[in-house]
Amino acid sequence: MKQEAAPASREVKEIAPGIIRVQLPINFTGLGHTNMYVLEDEHGAAVIDTGLPGRAGWAAIRSGLKAVGVPLGRVHTIMITHSHPDHFGNAARIADVAGADVLTHESFQIWWTPDNHTEGIIDDELRDRHHAARGGRMPWHGASDRRPGGRRVRAWWMRNIAHRMFRSPTPTRRISDGEHLTLGSRTLQAVHTPGHTADHLCWFEPATGVLFSGDHVLPTITPHIAGIGAGPDPLADYVASLAKTLAMPDVSVVLPAHGDPISDLVGRAASITEHHEQRLDQMRAIITASGPITVQSLAGELFPKRLMGFMAESETFAHVEHLRFLGEVERVEVDGRILFGALPN
Ligand SMILES: [Zn+2]
Ligand SMILES: [Zn+2]
Repeated sequence: MKQEAAPASREVKEIAPGIIRVQLPINFTGLGHTNMYVLEDEHGAAVIDTGLPGRAGWAAIRSGLKAVGVPLGRVHTIMITHSHPDHFGNAARIADVAGADVLTHESFQIWWTPDNHTEGIIDDELRDRHHAARGGRMPWHGASDRRPGGRRVRAWWMRNIAHRMFRSPTPTRRISDGEHLTLGSRTLQAVHTPGHTADHLCWFEPATGVLFSGDHVLPTITPHIAGIGAGPDPLADYVASLAKTLAMPDVSVVLPAHGDPISDLVGRAASITEHHEQRLDQMRAIITASGPITVQSLAGELFPKRLMGFMAESETFAHVEHLRFLGEVERVEVDGRILFGALPN
């Protein structure tokens, strides 16, 4: 079993001085836990990422904090690495109980909530994609893919379910890249790392060399590159973010949101990069052999049947769009279907 899929350990562990890891149980897209990191300081504690809502997650937060002697009311800051529910799930509840600040990247945007904050921060194409996705229309759907009416109803229904299941946190402070955060005698630096999502934010503590990587770098799983909710070319963003992370001086250890600490950032980054290069090569070969092809068919060639679905299509779309931005493929709409075909080089 991959370490990210392992059930939450009950062990509350001090990973670096004053940095404690509490694992919160989740069962979500193949993951078994979210790491919540507790950073103690003179005024109380900050937590990074808060798992999924529900009784088990909440109980793990309570018992984890109790084990380190931090009452919930002493949590003054909640840092959310990105807009996925396994990271922000309990943030609103903790903020309510503890009166804590909620910190996110300035472009933080949950897809089912109204978008009032990102004007001027994210580009228009990304906003358009957010809005289209809210209506159930993915950018790889051609007009004939599915009945638009049904799609709209399903998207409305999903938004409503999501609203009820996941109370969305309200950021009290939106952070920009490079900003410094002082927590008592600790100082952390925000590192914007778009790719997995457009609003992904890592945190670096220069004094200890600890990098809190969220889902940007994971120990054995390649972080999902989403075709929606990320930039126009999220794979290029991701690769650039990885390079930015590698260029940071003195990273001693990477603490991911799922799985164990990573000591070899360079090696891990190299194997993630290699995975994407291989996938692009596979895609080039398939498109050359098949001629113009839909994202759904392309995903069917790349992913085993059990993994087919929205995430496979979204990841495939991100890769084929990357090839389009490289000038290797073109996107055409034929009879209401969106197809990607090779361009002569
Ligand atoms: Zn994520
Ligand atoms: Zn995650």
